[in-house]
Amino acid sequence: MNASCLCGQVKLEIKTAFISSSICHCQQCQKSHGAANAAYGVALKSDVEWISGKKRVRKFASSERVRRGFCKDCGTNIYFYDKDCPNHLDIPLAILDSEPSVTPQCHIFVDSKAAWESILDDLPQHSASY
Ligand SMILES: [Zn+2]
Ligand SMILES: [Zn+2]
Repeated sequence: MNASCLCGQVKLEIKTAFISSSICHCQQCQKSHGAANAAYGVALKSDVEWISGKKRVRKFASSERVRRGFCKDCGTNIYFYDKDCPNHLDIPLAILDSEPSVTPQCHIFVDSKAAWESILDDLPQHSASY
């Protein structure tokens, strides 16, 4: 799968299928993405190849453990990295330029979802992580 940012300078390839996928409703994802939620695919870090623009990616520490990478020129969220899962890199499904190998399997952090958001599918919902 290939992914890119809004301005097109950051490009990456995910060489194998996602391990899992979920839709996160936590407040940090809401603010960071400027959206009600963020769908992520979990990739093996070693299977993510940077094609271009790696130097344009800035890291924001949204917590002690978490780093959120984004394109410094257009602001697109590129990845989510948790030090507790050092072999994983979570990629927002919305930056893929092709179909995701795995579509979302559940909702997480639904306890934090925006009051104005309605979850309209039948996927399992978890109050926090799982
Ligand atoms: Zn960009
Ligand atoms: Zn989140």
